[in-house]
Amino acid sequence: MFPSPRLSRRAFGMAALTAPLAVSFAGQARADGHAAPGDAAIYGASLGSYRITAIMDGVAPLGRGFFFGLPDEQINSVMEANGIGPDLLPAPVNAYLLQSGDRTILIDAGMGGLEMLGPGFGRLSAGLAAAGTSAEAVDTVVVTHLHPDHVGGLLAGGGAAFANAELVVAEAEATFWTDDAAMAAAPEAMQGLFQLAKAVMGAYAGRVTQVADGAEIAPGLTLSLSPGHTPGHSVVMIDGGDRQVMMVADTIHNAELHTALPNIGFGFDVDTGLAAQSRVALFDRLAADKTLIAGSHVHFPGFGRILRDGEVYRYVPATWA
Ligand SMILES: [Zn+2]
Repeated sequence: MFPSPRLSRRAFGMAALTAPLAVSFAGQARADGHAAPGDAAIYGASLGSYRITAIMDGVAPLGRGFFFGLPDEQINSVMEANGIGPDLLPAPVNAYLLQSGDRTILIDAGMGGLEMLGPGFGRLSAGLAAAGTSAEAVDTVVVTHLHPDHVGGLLAGGGAAFANAELVVAEAEATFWTDDAAMAAAPEAMQGLFQLAKAVMGAYAGRVTQVADGAEIAPGLTLSLSPGHTPGHSVVMIDGGDRQVMMVADTIHNAELHTALPNIGFGFDVDTGLAAQSRVALFDRLAADKTLIAGSHVHFPGFGRILRDGEVYRYVPATWA
């Protein structure tokens, strides 16, 4: 049903090359007086029936090597035009909290204690506290996909970090990462991703709800498949009555590169071609409707709009009181 994983060794090789930079970036950030791990970074706003709060779990020190598949000159010229790079493209890892009179819903849970992308993650719990809530109060965690920077924070001490939450995930996503045949066919570098996904599904056994494309997962919340980055990668439309926000998850890993070059490959894509197709289809809709977006890796707090720019797109940040 899904294309077999073709996460290339080349992509992972390039990602690995950036690892030493990850360490130096983290050290530099602290020396520069940036927030230390544990400090809350949140931004909240009203959508009507929901209050939405962006919570930054940490910063992923992505590098130029994570992006591939287009001529270097093309990538370099977009980076130069936007004053980014030449190498580091730090990306926040954002989770989104939705609070209403009777619901406390979290979309994704950050990296938590995992150090796969360097130290300094796990600020989600400080963010929840700053937003006036706690892991215990969360009744639902919606998972856009089962990658470490979205589900690492679901685990604490090998068990579930959210004692009272139902886990909602696309059936296509849960099926892929718990499929022994898919795991056996995947490259060595992906084995840890399967193990983590299985550990998460195991920790929440008995309270996982697997949903289909287009499912209404809570009042005003609709999950849609946008596959490619992972087979069941999902986006969530949040309709609070007054405003709508589309949480686009990992459709964007760098707002400038992924809008100017929507076909660019990203190192952790399971199927880069399908990811690009899904990205373009989604961007076309978002640009036509001028929909407000929230993004897992869009510059914190991650709210903005995707606009048409000739044949491609551009990202414009949005803030509101
Ligand atoms: Zn991600």
